[in-house]
Amino acid sequence: MTDNTRPTDSLTHQRAAAAAAALPVSCPSVDPLTSILPEEPLLMMGAGPVPIPDAVAKANSVVINHLGDTMARVIDQVKTMARYVFQTRSNWVLGVAGPGSAAMEMAVSNLAWPGTRVLSIVNGFFSARMAEMARRVGAEVATLEMADREIVSLDTLAQAIERTRPEIVTVVHGETSNTVWNRQLQDIVRVAKTVGALVVVDAVCTLSTMPLDMDAWGIDVVITGGQKGLSSIPGVSLIAFSDAAWERVRERTVPNTHWCLDAILAENFWHNAGYHYTAPVSGVLALHEALRLVCTETLEKRFARHQRCSLALQSGVMALGLELYTPEACRLNSVVGIALPASVTPRDVCNHISRQYQVEIAGSFGLPIVRIGQMGEQCREHHLFRTVHALGRTMCDLGADVDLPAGVAALEESLSAAGHR
Ligand SMILES: *Cc1c(COP(=O)(O)O)cnc(C)c1O
Repeated sequence: MTDNTRPTDSLTHQRAAAAAAALPVSCPSVDPLTSILPEEPLLMMGAGPVPIPDAVAKANSVVINHLGDTMARVIDQVKTMARYVFQTRSNWVLGVAGPGSAAMEMAVSNLAWPGTRVLSIVNGFFSARMAEMARRVGAEVATLEMADREIVSLDTLAQAIERTRPEIVTVVHGETSNTVWNRQLQDIVRVAKTVGALVVVDAVCTLSTMPLDMDAWGIDVVITGGQKGLSSIPGVSLIAFSDAAWERVRERTVPNTHWCLDAILAENFWHNAGYHYTAPVSGVLALHEALRLVCTETLEKRFARHQRCSLALQSGVMALGLELYTPEACRLNSVVGIALPASVTPRDVCNHISRQYQVEIAGSFGLPIVRIGQMGEQCREHHLFRTVHALGRTMCDLGADVDLPAGVAALEESLSAAGHR
């Protein structure tokens, strides 16, 4: 009996000693999310992420087996719906665990390797990112750099194509950074095809907000993220390869150094229900719901809603007395760039509108502008009224001279004139 107490004693002793010897990294004391997040979420009217519909939020809270029949059915529907949204009949539609940039890197790293001739049309921050990714895989990259808020002329492009004879051409459909729309995308593809180049298009902010017909326009790769036009969550993206692009991926002899982004490995999951890496199941379910809502609305109606809302917002902003940053000829509708008077900085405006009016808008990488998104759920009338009002009040609060009633009236007039209330 007396013996029995000894081990217990010693165990208690050991436990006490372990507890007393502090771990090298001590346990932190942090605030719960409820005390960090605002009581009412801010209205997300920046350049993404954008508000998500309830069905998307609900799906995002579910975890299921990443392999198996249920997931296989979800994946199958995601691919079918993505083909409609991309307007392609290509089999080679895949999802990517990662931001829009991961889809971009999947396109670049699978199609280019050391020595590949790439021509990147650069008219802003995101098109420059694609060129940088191509350089990093060792490609020989030529860039066609546009001045801020300019689009490439087809003659200039044709000369560059002749001179550099690229195997791959990269271009951004809508340059979110300076709100430039490469509206001649179809012609850019045509010119690139004269030397047989494959064309990679970044449609992160534009997909499902304005027409883009992958097959009919002859595009070889389209990439998109979740958190912009599609109104899903950030972190799960989509990519589609044409047959010609897929053939290049399949026939390459140098393996892709990005194992996670290797399209052939990804095919195992997205087409053969096999394992590559554990898919972000909740995010894929969220994307499924976002795509389903696009299909329910139809692309035609969705494009019309985006155009009507964006043009109304633009007319409201101009009536406030502010200038739009990008000339009409190449102005993007998916994100609206607003030039600020010299007396206020983008940071002042973004901070003030967020704190005082609970509306989130964006600056832009050092440009003297603020940006208001018109992607997915951002294109709703009640959001527009709240945003124009909050922007107008913010400018007044900061001492800038704007005509707030005129801005709200112009918004209303433009929406009424466009009909479909
Ligand atoms: C936002 C955006 C990206 C980058 O997407 P991430 O999800 O931030 O990686 C790329 N291209 C365009 C046109 C964008 O608008």
